[in-house]
Order: sequence, then structure tokens, then C-alpha cells
Amino acid sequence: MEKVIQNIDVKTIREAFPILHQQVNGKPLIYFDNAATNQKPISVIQSINDYYSRDNANIHRGNHSLADRSTANFEETRSAIQQFIKAKEADEIIFTSGTTESINLVASTYGRATINKGDEIIISGMEHHSNIVPWQLLCEEKGAILKVIPVTEIGEIDFDQFRELLSTKTKIVSIVYASNSLGSINPIKAIIEEAHQFGAVVLIDGAQASAHLEIDVVSLDCDFFALSAHKMYGPTGVGILYGKRDLLEAMPPYKGGGEMIKEVSFIKTTYNDIPYKFEAGTPNIADVIAFKKAIEFINDIGKEAIAHHENELLVYATEKIKQIDRVKIIGEAKEKVSVLSFVIDGIHHFDIGQMMDAKGIAVRTGHHCTQPLMHQFGIEGTVRASFSIYNTKAEIDEMIVSLEKIITIL
Ligand code: PMP
Repeated sequence: MEKVIQNIDVKTIREAFPILHQQVNGKPLIYFDNAATNQKPISVIQSINDYYSRDNANIHRGNHSLADRSTANFEETRSAIQQFIKAKEADEIIFTSGTTESINLVASTYGRATINKGDEIIISGMEHHSNIVPWQLLCEEKGAILKVIPVTEIGEIDFDQFRELLSTKTKIVSIVYASNSLGSINPIKAIIEEAHQFGAVVLIDGAQASAHLEIDVVSLDCDFFALSAHKMYGPTGVGILYGKRDLLEAMPPYKGGGEMIKEVSFIKTTYNDIPYKFEAGTPNIADVIAFKKAIEFINDIGKEAIAHHENELLVYATEKIKQIDRVKIIGEAKEKVSVLSFVIDGIHHFDIGQMMDAKGIAVRTGHHCTQPLMHQFGIEGTVRASFSIYNTKAEIDEMIVSLEKIITIL
């Protein structure tokens, strides 16, 4: 494996990404906004083009060749994801519009059906808004209580405090695998084990983890797992919810409409089997099909090799940025994905972002949809540089030069 890891050819990989070969504000684009969404290889782009130029037809209900072809391709992505996250069955994979919808689906179906007054739901202090607000809505509706695992100064969840929060009142634990603002990787296996001892179900928000970390939902024994294709070199508007069969079968439907039914009458409607019970309406067919190409892209390089390259970039950038005066890194967990968040004393993060953009460098600035976490650190937001398989140390050098200049000007 080590040999494969050393053989990553970033130059060739970059050639597969047309978007990278452009000038922005007169400078070669340096794309460091990968935690928001990463770029798409030509195989993904071509797949969308092929679908609309050759195969376009609505799926599942057709009895003509194009419909058969589209259905087969659509279902192939389901199988590819099943293998990717090592689920037992393809039927446990539900297509959604992304992580946000997947979490909302669980909150509004499983949550509504099982949560009662006084029950407790645990999340952590580093959650994305999409793993906070659906639970707040549910708690408001049901009179349940939302508990929050504190985050330490270096950006790790406080595991002892998590243990303290758990009780027989805990019904759901919903936690992020890797933080989009800090990069911290959470010990989700241990979290799942602890939560299960109290009979709680666990949802893992895998949005930031799925392009870099091995996922094995069976060995993790998580009850639900959510991810978004667009953070995995795939299209926007597509994601999945994994759920254990028995849970999905017991859950009421999410949206009503075509495809999710067995039989409709004005007296009584019966619902389809999983996964279709949760897939009402015409889905995002072209993008689901293209998602398979993104998975193939990751598999061809290998997650271990991707993680290795990105970690090298993270370590390199962290060391370099630490040498710059007035810079403070936000989030120094021992285990991190390639997210480098920082602030510069006396300079607003928006100004830094704008000045970097003038140099063709795309970073994200702001609260990264984690406002409670920003409040904990006593800041409004950070500058976030996040690295992907196609980034290089030379690009990081450019960012460092640019930051040094910004500091001398402002
Ligand atoms: N959770 C995390 C950790 C994220 O980073 C994001 C996207 N920034 C989401 C959830 C929401 O994902 P999406 O917008 O694709 O639904």
C-alpha cells in the first residue's frame, strides 16, 4: 500500500479537472475551498452530458429502452455506494439531495415517530447548522431536550462530558464524523458504542469524511449515515442516507408522492418497500448516475492515498502558517482532515478572503455554518483553507506569500 501512496501523480490528476486550468483575476486559480465543495473530474462532467444526450428518460416506471437504461444506471450508483460504505444491502441506501436532507429525513420520520416529551437528543458543539436545526425543530415540537457535547480548546469533543450526558433518556445521538470548520475527526466508533449501551440510535454526519476516510457502516454499527456527493468529486444536489433495514422499515414515509407508494386509494394508501418508500417524485437522475463516476474516481486513486496526500498538505501548510506573525489556528485536534482554519489578529477574515481572491486564491471566510462553535472560540468566523487531491505544496507556498503581503499592508 505504501508504494501506491508514494506514487500519486498530482500533475496527471489535475489534468482530469478542467476547472483548475483557468486564470482568476489574472492569476492561475488556486482552489482551497474544498470543504465547501470540491471540483469535478471530467468523467463526472461527461456522465451528465452523456445522460442528457443519450439516455434521458424517467426511471422505474417506463417500459422502453431509454427508461430501462436510465433505471439500470441509477440503480448501479446505489450498488456502488453500498460497496463504498460497506452496507449490507443496496436497499439501505436512500437517495436524497444531500446531507441536509438526509438529516431532516431522519428527524422528521424516525424522530417524529419515536421522540416524546422529556426525551433527550445529543449533538456536539462542533455541528454544522444542518445537524443542529432539524433537532431543535423536533425538540420544540415534542418537548424534548437537546444536549450538547462540549468542545475542548483544541477542537476535540470532550468524551468524558459526553459520557456524563448519556442516560436512558437519550434517544438519539447525532454527531459529525469530521468537522467542516476545524477539521477535527471525532472518535465515532467509541461514541456509537457508548450511545448503544443506553439504547440510543446514532446518526453520523459524514459530509466531510466521505472523500477521505474509510467508511464501514457495519463495523461502525451506526444506525444512520449521511453524506453529500458534491464533497466527494460528485455533483451537487445528490446525497444519501444510509439506515439499518429494520429502522427504515419501521419509519413512516418522509414525502408523499409518486414512487413511494404500493397502492393509492382515497380510503387507504399503502407504501412501497425501502428504499423507494423514501424516494417520492422524480429524483435527480443525471446527477445520481454521475455520482457513480465520482466514486470510481475515489476508488481508482484509493482513499488511503488521498488521505495521505491531503494530510501531507495539511501538515506542510500548518507548519508554514504558524511562522507568520499574528496568525492563530482555530482547531488543532490530534486527528484532522485537511482543513486549516485561522484568524489573523487585527484583520477581518472577509478582507483576507477578498485579498486572496485578487491573487486567484479561493478560500472560504465566515462562520462555515457553525455559529455556536465560532461563539465558543469568541470569534465571528475564520479563514478556511481546505485541501484536496489536486492541490500542491507550491500552491500552499503561494498562499503563504500572499498572507505575508496582506499582513504588511493591513
Ligand atoms: N455537515 C457538514 C459537516 C458539512 O460540512 C456540510 C456542508 N458544508 C453539511 C453537513 C451539509 O451538507 P449539504 O449542504 O451538502 O447538505
